[in-house]
Amino acid sequence: MAMASRRIAVSEVAGQEIIQEIEEFEGKAISSEQIGFNPTEPKLPDLTGLATVKYPPPEPLSPSIHHQLSVGSINLHSPTSGTGTKSTENKRNNLKKKKKEQKKQKSQNLSMTIDKDVNALEQLKYGFDHFKKEIYEKDVERFEELALEQKPKFMVIACADSRVCPSTVFSFQPGEAFTFRNIASLVPPYCEKKRNSGVGAALEYAVKIIKVENIVVVGHSRCGGIRGLMSIPEDSHNCDDFIEDWVKIGWSAREVVKKEHGTLPIPDQCSYCEKAAVNLSLDNLMTYPFVKEALETNSIKLIGGHYDFVNCDITVWEI
Ligand SMILES: [Zn+2]
Repeated sequence: MAMASRRIAVSEVAGQEIIQEIEEFEGKAISSEQIGFNPTEPKLPDLTGLATVKYPPPEPLSPSIHHQLSVGSINLHSPTSGTGTKSTENKRNNLKKKKKEQKKQKSQNLSMTIDKDVNALEQLKYGFDHFKKEIYEKDVERFEELALEQKPKFMVIACADSRVCPSTVFSFQPGEAFTFRNIASLVPPYCEKKRNSGVGAALEYAVKIIKVENIVVVGHSRCGGIRGLMSIPEDSHNCDDFIEDWVKIGWSAREVVKKEHGTLPIPDQCSYCEKAAVNLSLDNLMTYPFVKEALETNSIKLIGGHYDFVNCDITVWEI
């Protein structure tokens, strides 16, 4: 006698439990109804309260994020069904299992991408909102003046390391420091060819256009760029590596440290080199004609600095 029955099946798709009630006739599914699931669908960021942000105007989510969200939704609601003989059914089940695993993996990857992107946007928007409320709106007059021109007293050349933001370390307010950051806060010597010299362009702008009164080069503790410089093999002459090619600007500082402190452990050699590289960059600054000219007319000062974030200490010196 043919038997009809109902059973509850729990499956996992895209990391979510989906509960289905399946009606079967002679062991074959004839209908299924999704009766529940663990709702953790990807969500767009909650931008409530950010509608008043005007600087810059809020941008819509990028097409790529919409695409990712759309793809994610499709995966979350993929239909699951199948009929046939037992052997065919087994094959189908195996295939479905394999596809499910692949989809699960893909969905997990997409989810990570979505979360990462959405959180980054949220962080930026909320960060700006905080800045606007706590800094901009409390000193609008100052920002209106800055909208007309900038007259910073300092140009600061610092490392790109996320732990050594000069505005944080020196408590600079907007408009107080014209800042240029790169790996290991290095300044290459002046080059007449002027090719791809971001440092040269920034220096020229700071000295000739803005007319800063001080150029500060700041090194720091545990600098990855300096460690890279100190770790280059002696016989390394040709390299295709951007970092190695860049940090070699500090080669002569490394040579001095190797000669005078070469017996010390590498971390100690790096500490010496962090300061020696700053002095080398200060020397290199003087090879730029407009810096040299400004020094000769006493309209600019060159200052070296070393920020030790391990002990929260700063050393500054003038040359
Ligand atoms: Zn660094």
